[in-house]
Order: sequence, then structure tokens, then C-alpha cells
Amino acid sequence: MGKTSYAIAIGSNRRHGRHGSPAAVVAAAVQALAALGTVDSLSPIRSTPALGPAGRGFANAAAILTSRLAPDALLAALKRIEAEFGRRPGQRWGPRVIDLDIILWSGGPWGGPGPTVPHPEFRKRGFVLDPLADVAPGWRDPLTGLTVRQLRHRLRRGVPVDRADPRS
Ligand code: ADP
Ligand code: MG
Repeated sequence: MGKTSYAIAIGSNRRHGRHGSPAAVVAAAVQALAALGTVDSLSPIRSTPALGPAGRGFANAAAILTSRLAPDALLAALKRIEAEFGRRPGQRWGPRVIDLDIILWSGGPWGGPGPTVPHPEFRKRGFVLDPLADVAPGWRDPLTGLTVRQLRHRLRRGVPVDRADPRS
């Protein structure tokens, strides 16, 4: 297929034996992403330090990736990267070495096999919207008609976003 743009969310909350801190894991994952196309822009890596001695630090970033892969093939490639970094399937809420999510793509809503795009949870996640607003503030969510900047603003103010009403 032709080249398409993707907004990818990258997160880590566990150290990696070789790469090190969650922020270093995120940086290494960006290098791996570059093998799937072209990383056109990358947000700063935002780090949230661990709270207690037992707590985990988080690192999050967003990248704009141009690729020839369709969403299902891209998701398969992202899962291979997650596996290379040692993430085991089923680690949903616990500490994870790396999480790579397809948030948006230039083709609008994806109705094909594989991932749900736009990512169903992204409008509720500040750790996704904050870095995404660094690289793509004007990208419009095809389901709500709101830009990333507007979604972030609403989340911060606690205004619910109704997917069914593009003007809400
Ligand atoms: P989350 O990313 O929501 O915190 P997971 O990383 O555990 O949770 O994802 C669970 C599953 O969601 C993945 O195994 C993947 O198959 C599926 N999935 C559906 N849509 C997407 C998407 N847009 N990007 C990434 N994964 C997706
Ligand atoms: Mg994920």
C-alpha cells in the first residue's frame, strides 16, 4: 500500500537489563521503530519518577512514523519489537518493559483486521495525549472530530468526550 502516517505511543515502566532506565528503553524502542519506516518526529521523552522505593518510574513518548505497512501488519511488527524487549504477553497492568500502541493513522478509522484505530482508550490517557500534543497537536480524531490539543484540554478539565457527537 502507499505510505501512511501513524501516531505511535511508546511507554515503559520497567528497567531493561541492557538498555537501563525506562527512558533509555523508550529511546531504544524508537530506534527499533525506525526499521519499520521513517520516524518523522519524536516528542521529548517524559519521565515520571517513581514515588516510593518500591514504585516504578514511567517514561512516555509519541512518534510520528511514516510506513508502507497497513495497521494490522504494523501491529504485528510492534508486537515483535515488544517481544524482543522482553515483554511477555498478558502483562497488561503490571510493570512492562515496553508498550507500543497505534493511536491514530492517516487512513481514518481502521475497519480491517488487527488493531482498533483510533486506539479506544487514548482520549482518557494523559500520558498519551501529552506527548502526542508535542508532535501532532492539530491531528483530528476521526471519531470525535476533535484535535489532539482539544482532547488534551478536555481531559485536563475533566470534560467528558462523547464519541457519538462530533460537536461535543
Ligand atoms: P494497552 O496498550 O491498552 O495498555 P496492551 O498493550 O496490553 O494494553 O494491549 C492489549 C492488546 O490490544 C494488544 O495485544 C493488541 O492486540 C490490542 N490492540 C488493539 N488495538 C490496538 C492498537 N491500536 N494499538 C496497539 N494494540 C492494540
Ligand atoms: Mg499496548
